[in-house]
Amino acid sequence: MRPVEKGKAPVCKFIKYQDAERELEERLGAYCSYCELPIKHVPEVEHIEAKAAGGAPADWDNLLLSCKYCNTRKGTQVGGGEKEQYLWPDVDDTFHPYTYQDGIPQINEEFLCKQDEKYCECARNLFRLVKLDHVPSSREKDRRFMLRNEAYNNAINSREGWLKIKDENDKKSYLELMICLAQNTGFFSTWVEVFKNDPVVKNALIEGFPGTRRSVF
Ligand SMILES: [Zn+2]
Repeated sequence: MRPVEKGKAPVCKFIKYQDAERELEERLGAYCSYCELPIKHVPEVEHIEAKAAGGAPADWDNLLLSCKYCNTRKGTQVGGGEKEQYLWPDVDDTFHPYTYQDGIPQINEEFLCKQDEKYCECARNLFRLVKLDHVPSSREKDRRFMLRNEAYNNAINSREGWLKIKDENDKKSYLELMICLAQNTGFFSTWVEVFKNDPVVKNALIEGFPGTRRSVF
């Protein structure tokens, strides 16, 4: 899950939480903060602590962007004052506790066994909260699995092409195209997983997705 840098709260306070959408999108890109799905329509402003369960309705620290699938799954499960039971992409390292091998989100047990108990519990809670690895039945409208799979295939095909190019100028052009493709298909962590042993592409991905918190990598 992409760790993000929201930055300081904007100077003007939001009267309605919907007013934060533009600012969040400019800083973080139009991606779901949880599943990393690219949001082609207007993203939903998500309350970390649900406003219907006592969360601050228009407080910058309580807002992220979300797709409707994650927003619906999360629902009102996190109430006011319950934030501490989970990791959050705008404050914690939410990249390393999960892996995306073969494009499928999983708990990174190898990483978690070296972390303290509280962090592990919070990482597992967040994973469950949005059902990151959910495989939908044919009747369900949850498109996260299908679109993640598409992004994964794009990343694998791109890597095949990338490895064949030897000329430095051609490499530069191909890299630019590849980053555009990644931005369009979304699912940052899936792309980074495919290119985890290639620092040039990995860094270009980190730079290419706005608001990615670089200090985590
Ligand atoms: Zn989502």
